[in-house]
This record gives sequence, structure tokens and C-alpha cells, in this order.
Amino acid sequence: MFKCFLIKYGEIGIKGKNRHLFEDALVRQICHALRKVDGKFHVYKEQGRIYIDCETLYDYDEVVESLSKVFGIVGICPVMKTEDKGLEELGTEVIDFLENVYDIKDQTFKVLTRRARKSYPVESMEVNAYLGHRILEAFPDMKVDVHDPEILLHVEIREKIFIYSKIIPGPGGMPVGTNGKATLLLSGGIDSPVAGYMISKRGVEIDAVYFHAPPYTSERAKEKVVDLARIVSAYSGPINLHVVNFTDIQLYIYDKCPHDELTIIMRRYMMKIAEHFARQSKSMALITGESLGQVASQTIQSLAATNEVCTMPVFRPLIGFDKQEIIDVSERIGTYETSILPFEDCCTIFVAKHPVTKPNLNAIKRSEQKLNEKIDELVRTAIETTEIIRVE
Ligand code: ATP
Ligand code: MG
Repeated sequence: MFKCFLIKYGEIGIKGKNRHLFEDALVRQICHALRKVDGKFHVYKEQGRIYIDCETLYDYDEVVESLSKVFGIVGICPVMKTEDKGLEELGTEVIDFLENVYDIKDQTFKVLTRRARKSYPVESMEVNAYLGHRILEAFPDMKVDVHDPEILLHVEIREKIFIYSKIIPGPGGMPVGTNGKATLLLSGGIDSPVAGYMISKRGVEIDAVYFHAPPYTSERAKEKVVDLARIVSAYSGPINLHVVNFTDIQLYIYDKCPHDELTIIMRRYMMKIAEHFARQSKSMALITGESLGQVASQTIQSLAATNEVCTMPVFRPLIGFDKQEIIDVSERIGTYETSILPFEDCCTIFVAKHPVTKPNLNAIKRSEQKLNEKIDELVRTAIETTEIIRVE
């Protein structure tokens, strides 16, 4: 029935001279998303609009599902496209359209015509009136409601004529590739996948780093992180997931430093190593799933102590979110079920009963002195033995 989709995009429409860059990126992302769908599609932009022509049979739900993960799309409109027609024939097409798309009973409706091609001989208002009249004639139980119609029928007159009434919401945001790249510290928890999703939604490409601590964390814990990266990559595009073997560093810190400072010191090394890979992959920022006050390592003092080792900006998109708000997003984007699988996390294994909540940076640095003998070498080895998994 629908051989074409009209794609609505919001934010990117207001970017002035950069607009075409954003549109091109959106076209690219749409093509990328449709590559995984059976069928042949032609994606193109025309007069400030993006269209998808479906050139073969395709699965409607599959197309809508994959488009609803493309950042930058605000609305997905399945349209019926017809040749330029006289009013009478157009009326017949509109009636066909309604019959095909709806189980017509006594719905209220309104016709909204836009005449983008001014050479069309009839004015918009007249087209509205004529089509309204034809619809009432064909479906006597329908009623016009100009304020809050159940069916808002759009008729756009361009080179061709586009008829649509459904606008399926897209995810919003900006197309990936329009805002550089960042590196996500991805754990197996609920928060970091959501954080990655949120930054990617602003148009940012993503790589990820996971700190693995075998045998304290199992192979399945790692698989879980790969699965999470895969779910996020359905939105963000391919992710290079760096799996760092963190065991020796953790054991060394455990051996040398006060246990109530373990988490903070560990975190500082995570950030340093993540920044190394970020620089290597031309990322310009780090991303974490931290939220202010959530746990001891996420007080202002702890965040300041962790942040101190970073030279890149650290994005913490969840900083002001409550746990429930984070859970809501994770359910919506599909990471929740995987995140709550009960595999151990490298941080929980070495965590102290009473971690410091207000770490003193000088004290932390003094404790880190005790690591001088071996830590550089351990960090180097961890970096050298890192496994990179491309997830898409
Ligand atoms: P999450 O749900 O993302 O695991 P959390 O509430 O468990 O977060 P923490 O364990 O304190 O919080 O971790 C805070 C942040 O540090 C995480 O959101 C993540 O960005 C990063 N992080 C923690 N552990 C790891 C790990 N093993 N590998 C990579 N990043 C990690
Ligand atoms: Mg965690």
C-alpha cells in the first residue's frame, strides 16, 4: 500500500548554512539503517524533505522499526504518492487511501492541503473544501472537526501529490556523524548504556571501553556487555568495544592502597586508560553513566577526584536523573532486560564495606604513590592486551 515514506526532521531544519550537512548525514543514516531490511529502497532529499521510495516489496513493520532508531528523525509518515491529477481523480485516490488505511466508521477528520507547487491550478483552501465534501459523500458517518480531528489528512501538492495521515514518532536528536566522536565507559549495568544512547542521540559517534576482571568477572559478564553494546549500536551505528583486562591493576591497588579508597583509585585508572583509547580513536570526550549522589563514588567530591585525571571533557548525561528515570529510558531503548541479568561487575567484587564518600584528593594521590613501582607497567600491559570487538 505505501510505496513511499516522508521523513520529518525537526532540530536539523534550523541549522542555517549547515543544514545540507545534516540532511546528508540523515540520508546516510537512513540508508545504513535500511541496509539490514529486506527490499530495495531509494532515499533522497528534495526541497527540504527526505523521502524513501520503496522499490520492491518490503515488511512495513520492519522498516518502521528500523527508522524509529535513526536519530534526527522526528516523524515517519507512510505516504501514498500519486501523479499530478485533476481534483476529481485526486478525490477518488483520497477515498481509496482512507478505505485502505482505516476501518472507517464515524471518525472525525480534517483535510490539510499544502500547495508547494504554486502552478497547481486550484488553491489549497479550495482543495480542502472539495476533498472534504467528497469524503463526506463517500462516508456519511464521518464528521469534520477542524480543531481536534481523529484523522488529519495531509495532502501535499508538489511535482507529485503526497497523501498521508499517520506520523509515527521518531527518536528525535541529530543524525550520528554530525557531532564528532566520544568514548563510552560501558559496564554491564543499567546506566552506562543509557548514557551512550543519550550522547549518541546528539549526533555523536561512539566507541566503548569495558574493564573486565577475569576470573573475578566471568566470560558471560563480558558477553552481556557485548550484547549491550549491540543494542546501543542499533541507534549509534558500529561501536568498537575495547575489552581491557583490568584484573592485575585491581589486585595491585587492592594490595597497596587503603580499601576505602579502592573504588576511587580504580576509577581514576579506568578514566586514564579510557582516555588513552579515546585519543587513539580520535574521540574528543569520554562518557560515563554517573548520576550525582547515586553511590559513594558518585558524590561531588568523588566525581571531582575521578575527573581530575582526565584531560578531555567527560560527559555525564545522567548526572541529574533519578534511578527510575534512567530505568524508564533503558526500558524504552531495550537495554533494561540485558542490564539486569545477574552477572558480577568488576567494581562490586573489590568494593569496600565503607568506601569514602568525600575523598580528599591529596590523600588519594598519596595513596597512589604506593603504586609507583609497578603501575605504569601494568597499565601498559593492560593497554597492549586489550581486545577490540567491532559491534554492529
Ligand atoms: P552502570 O549501571 O553504568 O554500571 P552504576 O550505577 O553501576 O553504573 P558505577 O558502577 O559506580 O555505577 O559506575 C559508574 C560509571 O563508571 C558507569 O556508568 C560506567 O560509565 C563506568 N564503569 C563502571 N564500571 C565499569 C566497567 N567495568 N567498565 C567500564 N566502565 C565502567
Ligand atoms: Mg555498574
